[in-house]
Amino acid sequence: MAQLIEAVRGMNDIGPDESAPWQHVEQVFRGLMLSYGYREVRLPLVEKTELFKRSIGEVTDIVEKEMYTFEDRNGESLSLRPEGTAGCVRAALQRGWLHQGVQRLWYGGPMFRHERPQKGRYRQFHQLGVEVFGLPGPDIDAENIIITARLWRRLGVAGKVSLQINSLGTPASRARFRTDLVAWLQERAHLLDEDSRRRLTTNPLRILDSKVPETRHLLANAPSLMDYLDDAARAHFAEVCARLDAAGVAWEHNPRLVRGLDYYTYTVFEWVTGELGAQGTVCAGGRYDGLVEQLGGRPTPAVGFALGMERLVALLPAGQVPEADYRPQAYLVMVGEAAERRGQVLAESLRDALPGLRLLAHCGGGGFKSQLKRADKSGAQVALILGQAEAEAGTVGLKPLRGGGGGQQTVPQAQAAQALAALLDG
Ligand code: ATP
Ligand code: MG
Repeated sequence: MAQLIEAVRGMNDIGPDESAPWQHVEQVFRGLMLSYGYREVRLPLVEKTELFKRSIGEVTDIVEKEMYTFEDRNGESLSLRPEGTAGCVRAALQRGWLHQGVQRLWYGGPMFRHERPQKGRYRQFHQLGVEVFGLPGPDIDAENIIITARLWRRLGVAGKVSLQINSLGTPASRARFRTDLVAWLQERAHLLDEDSRRRLTTNPLRILDSKVPETRHLLANAPSLMDYLDDAARAHFAEVCARLDAAGVAWEHNPRLVRGLDYYTYTVFEWVTGELGAQGTVCAGGRYDGLVEQLGGRPTPAVGFALGMERLVALLPAGQVPEADYRPQAYLVMVGEAAERRGQVLAESLRDALPGLRLLAHCGGGGFKSQLKRADKSGAQVALILGQAEAEAGTVGLKPLRGGGGGQQTVPQAQAAQALAALLDG
């Protein structure tokens, strides 16, 4: 036999027994987006490498070491998207969406980062995300966070996640903070891990985000960005927090929460959980008023978030996904050639009459007993039975499989839809 070819490390299949929770999360999210007036965009998985360098920043983990970058056949450097914001801003600029007033957008799909695969961290992973353009006020920051809070409630994970929030202020106040932070860290450079020492000169704010325990410990006494915020940033932050309070969304101020990138301004937030080990961030977002300009547009306020589907699906409580909604409701058993032929026609007429019906029609022949066994195994509530006798008489048997519903009954095929609907309702 030829040698099997395996999937790329860190890139997972979602099998038929695993897809129900994914569909459930997507369906709930899609419903929320509709109800809040956000519209879907579908964007390319591949963009010019330059886009990510200029938006995410040259000195970030993502651009320095995580991107899947390759040369196109014509020599252009392209990258698989590591996140969705850059492509969304690119599209908004290129397609003129920003001239059409406020935009509330959402997207979903795979992202790619060359990280060390482990539980909750993969090389192809999936995000659902939101980007809003054209609104500078704290109202929309709060709306974004309130949406995520509602999503957690709908999915039954609200008790497992908590909200951390911070303000990064303006680029000007951050520059002042940065100067002082660098001075403070330089005196203690010998205590820093190697990555952080390197970042002292390249991207010092990112050090605040270090996952190295010794560095984190040291940082506890470092200057705090909060002390550098100007009045406008303070007021904006206070208003976001007040709105969260009013909406009943609990939050914790984490003054060390940064997102390291130059374009972030004002609000940043993360939803974290203790249930997924080191991969504790389920959702992250914030305001990025500088990015549109950085990518060649007019200054445009913007805010958004992205959540990791793998981590969210892992948090779903057992029983929360309505498994029954993904099982067939009825299984059509057909024994004998005449019945098989007649059965396919009957199945189509049932689908015409009951458009939402989940009907699995047996294929591949076999005896009555073995087909009925499969019907039972499929999880269907009702077996529809078409044997030689029924085919000749123009009838069909309906046999409840899950208790209740009474015994087997036989009805004319023309009344099958009605009888089946009554059984499924009951
Ligand atoms: P982390 O600190 O865990 O590396 P991040 O700050 O790199 O996260 P973001 O770029 O903010 O993550 O992406 C938003 C969300 O996407 C994360 O909160 C997480 O849920 C998810 N995510 C990011 N990278 C991965 C990955 N490699 N595998 C699975 N999910 C991921
Ligand atoms: Mg990361």
